[in-house]
Amino acid sequence: MEPIVYDGTCPACLRGEPNLCVQFGFLGLMGGGGGLAEYAVVPAGRAHVLPEGVSTETAALVEPLAVAWHAVRRGGLTEGGSVAVVGAGPIGLGLLLAAKAQGAGFVAVSEIDAARRELALGLGADLAVDPTEQDAAAEVLARVPGGVDAAFEASGAGRAAVDTLLAVVRKGGRAVTVAQGGTAELDPTALMVNEIVYTGSFAYDATDFPAVITALADGRLREESLTALVTDRIPLDRADEDGYRELLARGGAHVKILVRADAADAADSAASGA
Ligand SMILES: [Zn+2]
Repeated sequence: MEPIVYDGTCPACLRGEPNLCVQFGFLGLMGGGGGLAEYAVVPAGRAHVLPEGVSTETAALVEPLAVAWHAVRRGGLTEGGSVAVVGAGPIGLGLLLAAKAQGAGFVAVSEIDAARRELALGLGADLAVDPTEQDAAAEVLARVPGGVDAAFEASGAGRAAVDTLLAVVRKGGRAVTVAQGGTAELDPTALMVNEIVYTGSFAYDATDFPAVITALADGRLREESLTALVTDRIPLDRADEDGYRELLARGGAHVKILVRADAADAADSAASGA
């Protein structure tokens, strides 16, 4: 289920950019309804049929991947292109997967958490740098002289992250902010003399959900790569304690927590270590 709400009639919607709709909302946030309800009504066009063999567990990860998929498109990536991602949380790891699926030839990740760097390498990152130990921009430039074609800010860490973002992107390249949070100082002259396009990416348009599902069906996105982002599986009646409160208290220890509607099923999975 694609959870975005838009009016379909405003100039943005008519341009094919429903994510920029003046009436934009998400079902479950500011758009009514919610995934913890027993039933939720969605417009038929927002419901997608899963291809044969794609599990519902993977389906639950299509939404965050669609965010990443859209951002990679905003980065103007072409086949064999080079990419840097600042921050390897849920969005950053999704960017890594989406960039590879869209043909990236090289993806570097900058991430302070060792477990997340390991996960990024396991998911196909060509370089994973700890920005607290190394000069992340210098490490990337050593591998890609002149800088990468597209760089993505997915940490929300503010100035240091944006400084890295703009230091790793090549002249004429694209820098994209995907995460929210933090403020930064920006030197417009650096953008001017290097013709860097610095833009944002928000949610996804009408093409991104189907594109992610198609990439799962044809193998450009592998199910096991998506499920590798799942750090816990919990039953519905534990969603508050082991879901929301756990993320508030120890968010850094998780990527994605999946809530299963069938409590017995989830307990069985946990018991078997599945
Ligand atoms: Zn609209």
